[in-house]
Amino acid sequence: MVIDEFNGDNFDHTGLGFIGGGYLAQMQTNGRPIESQPTPEGTPSWGADYKRAVRESYNHSTSIFAHGAVMSHRGNYLDLDPTYTDAYGRPLLRMTFDFTDNEYRMSNYLTDRLVEIARAMNPREMKVNRRKGPYSIVPYQSTHNTGGHIMGDNPRESVTNRYNQSWDLPNLFVTGAGNFPQNPGYNPTGTVAALAYHTAQAIRTQYLRNPGPLVQA
Ligand SMILES: Cc1cc2nc3c(=O)[nH]c(=O)nc-3n(C[C@H](O)[C@H](O)[C@H](O)COP(=O)(O)OP(=O)(O)OC[C@H]3O[C@@H](n4cnc5c(N)ncnc54)[C@H](O)[C@@H]3O)c2cc1C
Repeated sequence: MVIDEFNGDNFDHTGLGFIGGGYLAQMQTNGRPIESQPTPEGTPSWGADYKRAVRESYNHSTSIFAHGAVMSHRGNYLDLDPTYTDAYGRPLLRMTFDFTDNEYRMSNYLTDRLVEIARAMNPREMKVNRRKGPYSIVPYQSTHNTGGHIMGDNPRESVTNRYNQSWDLPNLFVTGAGNFPQNPGYNPTGTVAALAYHTAQAIRTQYLRNPGPLVQA
């Protein structure tokens, strides 16, 4: 179940101090044997009390979450690593990333909405996980990495034009999540596919008839 009232510009941001938003969701993955063993706060992690708590909580608990946008920031970028190289001696890609106040404010606001929903479900117990910095790549928090060959309206600030055509090499088209300058509050793949169709149509209907830049820099 997903609600979209707090995604993008679907709500009034007056006085909130951030832009963007995200969707709120409850996901049902059935009783996964390893991950689905929620226990109340304070339960020991082994022994008879642990087993009793798992028995009592199994299929009697759920989680709801927010999936939010991340905007472009100058301090977040990809470049060539000055130290680490691959087997051929070529520099590895280095990612420099952290959340900014915009993401923390947005996340707090969305979490407040989740708390309201959870309270309305009248739970015996609930646990609130607020996003705290700095960003860590270690805990799993979706794999929606974007950027690298971003799309834009000029060659100074982007790698491709709106048809995912390289500004430098007109016969090179690159499609994928790397085209996104930022990630909206949605999973990326639907948009990746839509952009691939957009690119293919431009190649068929424009580029093949008249090879060259489809947008003048
Ligand atoms: C565990 C997991 C769960 C996910 N769940 C979702 C989801 O539920 N919904 C959603 O929308 N998105 C989801 N995503 C994100 C989604 O998979 C990616 O955003 C999407 O696949 C990006 O597409 P892409 O074409 O940019 O890159 P990729 O799909 O990564 O394609 C890049 C391709 O380039 C190839 N390649 C790399 N280097 C070279 C080279 N030198 N020469 C030739 N080929 C090369 C790779 O082998 C790969 O096939 C998930 C990702 C992960 C990892």
